Amino acid sequence: MNDKKIEIDTLVVGAGQAGVAMSEHLSKLGVPHLVLERNRIAEAWRTGRWDSLVANGPVWHDRFPGLAFEDLEPDAFASKDRVAAYFEAYAEKFEAPIRTGVDVKKVVRNSDRPGFTIETSDGVIQANRVVAATGPFQRPVIPPIAPKDSTITQIHSAQYYNPQQLPEGGVLVVGAGSSGVQIADELQRAGKQVYLSVGQHDRPPRAYRNRDFCWWLGVLGLWDAEVMEPGREHVTIAVSGARGGQTVDFRGLAKQGVTLVGLTQSFNDGVVTFQQDLARNIAAGDANYLSLLDAADAYIARNGLDLPEEPEARFMLPDPECVTNPILELDLAEAGITSIIWATGYAVDYSWLQVDTFDEKGKPRHQRGVSNEPGVYFVGLPWLSRRGSSFIWGVWHDAKHVAGHIATQRQYLEYRDPSQR
Ligand SMILES: Cc1cc2nc3c(=O)[nH]c(=O)nc-3n(C[C@H](O)[C@H](O)[C@H](O)COP(=O)(O)OP(=O)(O)OC[C@H]3O[C@@H](n4cnc5c(N)ncnc54)[C@H](O)[C@@H]3O)c2cc1C
Repeated sequence: MNDKKIEIDTLVVGAGQAGVAMSEHLSKLGVPHLVLERNRIAEAWRTGRWDSLVANGPVWHDRFPGLAFEDLEPDAFASKDRVAAYFEAYAEKFEAPIRTGVDVKKVVRNSDRPGFTIETSDGVIQANRVVAATGPFQRPVIPPIAPKDSTITQIHSAQYYNPQQLPEGGVLVVGAGSSGVQIADELQRAGKQVYLSVGQHDRPPRAYRNRDFCWWLGVLGLWDAEVMEPGREHVTIAVSGARGGQTVDFRGLAKQGVTLVGLTQSFNDGVVTFQQDLARNIAAGDANYLSLLDAADAYIARNGLDLPEEPEARFMLPDPECVTNPILELDLAEAGITSIIWATGYAVDYSWLQVDTFDEKGKPRHQRGVSNEPGVYFVGLPWLSRRGSSFIWGVWHDAKHVAGHIATQRQYLEYRDPSQR
């Protein structure tokens, strides 16, 4: 591509699930387009996740409408590699025009003509429209409180693959969303002494009354919630499909041998301090869990469904010692902690997209993915249109909307008045 100039109507950047969904809808609407991916299709699922990860949702749910995981039972949880293979097969199914190994380095709006000039690692492209499908989780975030002490091994959950990569000794896992709880569990089962720092979280039941929580969120309209409840922006969700799928239960983790601690506050001279919020965070997680059971019971009663009762789902283990008498300060060396895993989430990176559509915090300004810079679109972002937006099933619907907008814009531009016809 280096010496030739490519012109295309729509350029999609990124070939994860968002880019693949975008390409499918653009193809269906006859929009000429090209997808550029710096690595491989669904790279995040190949190398950006730990070895044992399985999808958080069962395969009947965590998929696109056009293709089932035919080799798996509907209630199974696909391995990360199987998910990657799924998107590769999906792209092949409709011959998605994807070029891999091409990095999009810079996008600028043309000043003297419509469209955008795109600099890539393989030449320059002119496009009328650009869709950023570069993912909700681009840059691992480690908070500034991380100790500068080089004797401790520190990695982000994005760099965690398996227990063998860590040095001998105990581990502090910071963050108890889906990644943190699963990694802490795996490390404890591998024989490590694990401390898990638990902040605010939701923890839906894995399943209740013979229905997975993905089903409950669907029928209760919770995947479709359009706005995050104010003040809950930092509330992570702790779910897991590991070992056939079980409800995340912090008291159960403690019983197993994981030491729970509150939110990690600071590191000073080898001593880490934790907030005194552990019991409160666990209780709030319980309340979230129980509220879903209540909503499910009410739904069953209202609709007269014949689903078996499950009173034992309301049984809670007693609070473990680490919750009733929480550790607020810990000397890392004395505790034998030699590594820290930061399961503290990700940020976006749009440094390559040099157009006027970001607010003062660098967040994209858009409505359901249609940016206020004409011709620029986003897909795959959390809460792009609803709670489900950054998940496998949700992005497909957002991509459909964005592709529809692009097709409509093309129709306007194709209009010719009588003197032009
Ligand atoms: C640990 C973990 C587990 C998850 N499990 C589930 C789950 O079970 N079910 C579920 O529904 N969701 C899950 N998610 C959420 C979500 O489905 C994934 O994050 C998914 O990878 C997002 O897909 P995406 O296409 O939006 O972004 P990505 O998969 O991140 O794809 C973006 C692509 O863009 C490419 N790219 C970025 N910048 C450029 C550039 N400048 N030029 C060219 N290419 C570029 C990247 O290489 C990447 O391949 C999980 C997320 C995490 C972190």
